[in-house]
Amino acid sequence: MIVVRNARVLTPSGIEDASVVIEGDTVHSVGAEPEANGHQVIEAGGAWLGPGLVDLHVHLRDPGQTWKEDMRSGARAAAAGGFTALVAMPNTDPPVDDRTTATAAVERAAGIEDVEIVAAGALTRGRSGEALADFDGMFEAGVRIFSDDGDSVPTAGLLRRAMAYLRDLPGALIAEHAEDRSLAATGHLHEGEVASRLGIAGLPALAEELVVARDLLLAATTGTRLHIQHVSTSGSLDLIRRARAEGVEVTSEVTPHHLALEESAVEGLDTNFKMYPPLRGRDDRVALVEALRDGTIDVVATDHAPHTTAEKEVPFEEAPRGVIGLETAAAVVATNALGGDPRLFFERMSIAPAGIAGLSRHGRLVEKGSPANLVLFDPNLRWVPGGFASKSSNSPFAGIELTGRVLMTIREGKITYEGGSG
Ligand SMILES: [Zn+2]
Repeated sequence: MIVVRNARVLTPSGIEDASVVIEGDTVHSVGAEPEANGHQVIEAGGAWLGPGLVDLHVHLRDPGQTWKEDMRSGARAAAAGGFTALVAMPNTDPPVDDRTTATAAVERAAGIEDVEIVAAGALTRGRSGEALADFDGMFEAGVRIFSDDGDSVPTAGLLRRAMAYLRDLPGALIAEHAEDRSLAATGHLHEGEVASRLGIAGLPALAEELVVARDLLLAATTGTRLHIQHVSTSGSLDLIRRARAEGVEVTSEVTPHHLALEESAVEGLDTNFKMYPPLRGRDDRVALVEALRDGTIDVVATDHAPHTTAEKEVPFEEAPRGVIGLETAAAVVATNALGGDPRLFFERMSIAPAGIAGLSRHGRLVEKGSPANLVLFDPNLRWVPGGFASKSSNSPFAGIELTGRVLMTIREGKITYEGGSG
């Protein structure tokens, strides 16, 4: 039995100052502290206790590139970041694109204890953008989220066929990485002021917005549920708002780094600031924070993309795209967007993503009988990230002071992370 004393708890009736007792994999009570001795008692000191965080967008590099990350190290990083569930993108080697690869991914994920790993499947065979993947085989293996993340589905015709097919599989979701290759292929950072000053080819906002517009039109005509990954421009937000007003069933995500950083951060050509979509201008960043608060954007997702130091220690143009994010996400989001609002923090980082992924044991308000998938988060604790549990350390936030820290993560009643005392 675990007792978390003096927490600010996200319950069905709002935020309550309470003690929470966990027994087995379940919340046993929320309220006054129990009398009995012999419990493991955790003093929360007013930190937030809510449902464990859920990340819809993680690259675990397993199988195929396990020198960057693997399921086990990724799960440790996730637990250290307050996550109890994550969706693993299928761009592994081999990619998850049929019954065999999906079954292997689901079975290996089931052996991981620190976090629930949900395997996503590719939209096209081999992620080649040429033919549809084996949806029936993957669906029967348990896959519900389909994405060619890293690339968009290149043609409207192919995506429309994918949408028509997946519309009939209950719970299936298409998640799109929006990037028009013909506009983006030669770019390395946002096509804006900083790119022109440095004389490096940029990725225009248009590369994202064209694909977002196309996908929303296709979702409207097929009636298929669509999730847009890592939205980064205010133009994309306008398109999403308009589509929603017209009844299109679309959700979207933003990364912590797009909430916190702008193109100016790339000025020093530190490759730990290179990712897709790139860090945009100030107006875009401000619009993203606003959209996360007003609900235009449903969730924060990290796009955790590990690369080793050797891989990143090359000229900016040659460096691989992507940054890690699991261990800093909660703090970056609290520092830059949702720090004063526990209800909204848990909504965007746990409740909404669990709902989108259909994870019934995650994203639940804390009450008697709810699953003990929980995070204890101190919104006021200042710390400087470093010494990551991930195998990679390509973080733009290493060495930068953040406000808000995960103190403890509990998955199915077991403590998977404990630390963060400063
Ligand atoms: Zn992506």
